[in-house]
Amino acid sequence: MTDASRTSRKSEVIVLGAGIVGVSTALALQQRGHAVCLIDRKAPGRETSYGNAGIIQREAVRPYAFPRAWQAILRVAARRGNDVHYHVRALPSLVPALARYWRASAPQRYESTVQAYSALIRHCIDEHAPLIERAGAQDLIRKTGWIEAYRTASAFDEAARDAKTVAAAHELGYALLDGAALADAEPALQTALAGAIHWLDPWTVTDPGELVMRYAALFEREGGVILRGDADTLRASGSGWTVRTSAGDIDAEQAVIALGPWAAGLTRRLGYRLPLFVKRGYHRHYAVDAEAMPTKPLLDAENGILLAPMRQGLRLTTGAEFAHHDAPPTPVQSARAEMLAGDLVRLGAAVEPQPWMGARPCIADMRPVIGRAPHHANLWFHFGHGHQGLTLGPATARLLAELFDRDQTYVDPAPYDPRRFGA
Ligand SMILES: Cc1cc2nc3c(=O)[nH]c(=O)nc-3n(C[C@H](O)[C@H](O)[C@H](O)COP(=O)(O)OP(=O)(O)OC[C@H]3O[C@@H](n4cnc5c(N)ncnc54)[C@H](O)[C@@H]3O)c2cc1C
Repeated sequence: MTDASRTSRKSEVIVLGAGIVGVSTALALQQRGHAVCLIDRKAPGRETSYGNAGIIQREAVRPYAFPRAWQAILRVAARRGNDVHYHVRALPSLVPALARYWRASAPQRYESTVQAYSALIRHCIDEHAPLIERAGAQDLIRKTGWIEAYRTASAFDEAARDAKTVAAAHELGYALLDGAALADAEPALQTALAGAIHWLDPWTVTDPGELVMRYAALFEREGGVILRGDADTLRASGSGWTVRTSAGDIDAEQAVIALGPWAAGLTRRLGYRLPLFVKRGYHRHYAVDAEAMPTKPLLDAENGILLAPMRQGLRLTTGAEFAHHDAPPTPVQSARAEMLAGDLVRLGAAVEPQPWMGARPCIADMRPVIGRAPHHANLWFHFGHGHQGLTLGPATARLLAELFDRDQTYVDPAPYDPRRFGA
């Protein structure tokens, strides 16, 4: 990709960022006949899209709301659970976005977000499936769902009631497993748990970073161009945009910002004030014998730890850490996850010397930003997928591409419109 002859190339569209969202965007635009150049400072799928839990979450029709009950808020404030951690020094700068997040989580507003969000989520598998097929990535995919497990009977009973309601409202497949059925389904568990919800529709990925690489390879095979470059060099030129890359300056009529958690910096520089923040998360792999490996991802719901069987080992992922994106890692949740998971399964040695850290790109109203930039011609926003970027990348890329071509859209784009912030 360092072929200097490409310096003269004028693409029609530059996509900035080659995580799952950018790569899916590049593929969706390419399929509609556009000449696309995908630019990242790293290889595709090496950041947030590498380190997630690998679940294409068909069941995630309700994005994570800010807790509204005082008991829950106090529990988080006291850092009593392992699901949420925060840096005290980051709080003052996070307050405006968190206040909006809290307001957006009020019951009525949240319900309309659930309606909008579920309209996208319901397409997640259908939009991934053809890409998996064309990219030859079937070997990375399992179609056996994932397990939300509970240690206490009271928490399991409450979750089971909730699952029944949400499944009926959103046509989700699930099975309830009592303690014995769970032990049968997952013989690797060495502790008796109260029960679990087995979500049946989701697909899971045994190496999400590799999936993004395969999608990127498909994009290249079909004539797309991938270059190393710095999105921060984006500048208006004539009626279009220019970005500096390792192959020289690339010009294009249109540009899409798909920088995930890094979208905040570039959009701010362009004059936008969007309520973006990150929830950092960690993972670490452990060597586990075949018989001690869970057969599918398993969430220890009351402790906020997910055990995901991956090609690299058993990946333990953590919940949310509210901190500045670039503050040094504080993997306390990861350390606790290791301790708590060690009681569930026989964990071997850690594979990496340190936990990996990533940052979920979050928007205060829990809806990704998809559409034309309000104050710049030929600029598009596509970021803010929070906890479900792997799930939603191809589905929101289709929506972005339909908007790009001014076509009829397959879901209502209004809830995702960048103009909703008045920024
Ligand atoms: C612990 C954890 C578990 C998760 N589990 C799940 C899950 O099971 N299912 C799910 O759906 N989601 C999950 N997520 C969320 C999901 O990983 C993210 O929503 C998704 O990866 C975001 O994708 P993205 O393409 O927007 O961002 P990224 O993958 O971060 O991509 C952004 C790209 O921009 C590039 N970039 C940044 N700055 C520049 C620059 N200046 N110049 C050029 N390039 C630049 C980066 O190199 C990167 O490649 C999880 C997240 C975490 C942290």
